[in-house]
Amino acid sequence: MAVVRYENDGKMIIEGIYCSCGCRHMTPNQDIYVGEGLISRLPEYIARRGLGKNCVLACDDNTYQIAGKAAAEALSAAGYSVTLCNMHREGKFEPDERSVGEVLLSMTEKTELLIAVGSGSITDTVRVCAMRAGLPYCIVGTAPSMDGYTSVVAPLILRRVKIHRDAKPAELIVCDLAVLATAPLPMIASGVGDVLGKYIARAEWKISELVTGETYCPVCGDMVKDAVTTLMENIPDIAKKTPRGIKILIEALLVSGTTILMIGKTRAVAGVEHNIAHTWEMVQLLGGEIPPSHGAAVGAATCICLPVFKRFMSEDLSLVDTKERVKNAFTYDEYRAAMLKLYGNVAGEELICENPPERLSDAEMAERLERIKKNAVGIRAAIDELPSPESVVSAMKALGAPVTAAQLGIPERLEKLAMRYGVYYRARYSLFRLMEECGLADKYLGNCDSL
Ligand SMILES: [Zn+2]
Ligand SMILES: [Zn+2]
Repeated sequence: MAVVRYENDGKMIIEGIYCSCGCRHMTPNQDIYVGEGLISRLPEYIARRGLGKNCVLACDDNTYQIAGKAAAEALSAAGYSVTLCNMHREGKFEPDERSVGEVLLSMTEKTELLIAVGSGSITDTVRVCAMRAGLPYCIVGTAPSMDGYTSVVAPLILRRVKIHRDAKPAELIVCDLAVLATAPLPMIASGVGDVLGKYIARAEWKISELVTGETYCPVCGDMVKDAVTTLMENIPDIAKKTPRGIKILIEALLVSGTTILMIGKTRAVAGVEHNIAHTWEMVQLLGGEIPPSHGAAVGAATCICLPVFKRFMSEDLSLVDTKERVKNAFTYDEYRAAMLKLYGNVAGEELICENPPERLSDAEMAERLERIKKNAVGIRAAIDELPSPESVVSAMKALGAPVTAAQLGIPERLEKLAMRYGVYYRARYSLFRLMEECGLADKYLGNCDSL
C-alpha cells in the first residue's frame, strides 16, 4: 500500500508503489516539496538538482505578487540570473499562442531553466516551452486548483481551439502552504472538484477491467481512493483554508497526479466526468465563450454523473438480449454523426481522428455483451464503492461550488448532448459506453435525436 510521508525539508516521499499488476510502472523522479516557508529555499532545491543558474521566471501580475516576487528575490540573492517574464493580462490568463510566445521570447541562448509561478494555465504554458527548448523546468504552485502540477501533457489553446501537446514532467515542484492558502475559495473548490471526479475514474477503470480486460492497477487505484477519502473527511478544514486543510487538498492533487507519471496515462484520475467537463469547455471555447475552470466543471459533472451510476445498480443486466444488441449496435456512422452534432464539423472531425473508435465485429460484440452479463455483480460492486451523490453535492456546496450544469452557465442542449455523447471525447471504456452497448443509453443518459 502506498504511503505518503515528508522529510524534514518538506520533500514528499511516496513509498510502497511497488506493484505487479502488469501495467508498465515508472518510478517518478521529481522533487516535490510541500510545507511552510519554502519559497526562500527554492535556490537550494534547484541547486540540489543541478538545474543551472540562468533562468526565466514566468508569472502573471497576480502570481508575481503572491510568490513570483519572493522567488525572484531569493534566486537573485543566491546568485541566480533571473529574467522575469510577467505576462500582464486584462482578463483571464490563457495558455495560448500569445502566452507561449511571451515565454519563448523571454529566453536567450543562455537560459538553462524555466520556472513557472502559477497554477494550471501558467504551468501548461511553461511546460510546452520547456519541451520545445529542451530545457528543464520547475513549478512554484500558487493554488491547489487542479491536479496538473505533475502532468506530462499541456492542454493549450491555439486559434481558440483546445489542443494537447506532449511534454515532460517538472523537475521540481514547490508547494508552499501559505502561498496556496491565498488562493480564492473558487480555486480551492476547483481543486476539490477535480479530486472528487476521481471516484468515478476508479470505478470505471474497475468496470473496464471486468468488461474489456484492461489492466487495473490496485496501487494507483488505492492511492487515488485514499487521497479522495481523506479529502472528503476534511472539507470543513479545506473550506476554512487551514494549513491542514490546504495540505490535504494539495497532497490529494499531487498524489493523484503522480499516478499519471507512474503508469503513463490518466486512467486513475479522469473518467467520464472529465470527458463531460472537457466537452463543455471545448464547445464553449468554439463558441467564443469563456468556459468555467476545469475543476469546477469536473466537480459539477461528478455531481451530475454520480446519480446515474447509482441508478444503474438496480438494472438487471441478465435481461440484455445479446442477439438484438449485436444487430442494433451503435454504428460508426451514428458515432460520427454524434461527434459532428456535438462539436461541429471541424472540431468533430479532428476529435474523430485523435480518438479512432473501437470497432468490434459482431462476434466480438456478442462476446463483450456476454462478459458484461457475466460480470454484473462485479460491475455493481464497483459502483457501490462510489460515495452517495448527496455527500459529494454537500461537499461542493460547503465550498460554494456549482453542482449543476446550469449553475456553471452550460446551456441545456449542451448539457444533454455532453451527457449522452461526451464519453466519446476520449477512446476509453466507461460505464456510459456499456450503457450504449446494452441499449440502455436512452434510459440513463437521455435521447438526443431531436436536439
Ligand atoms: Zn482534472
Ligand atoms: Zn500497478
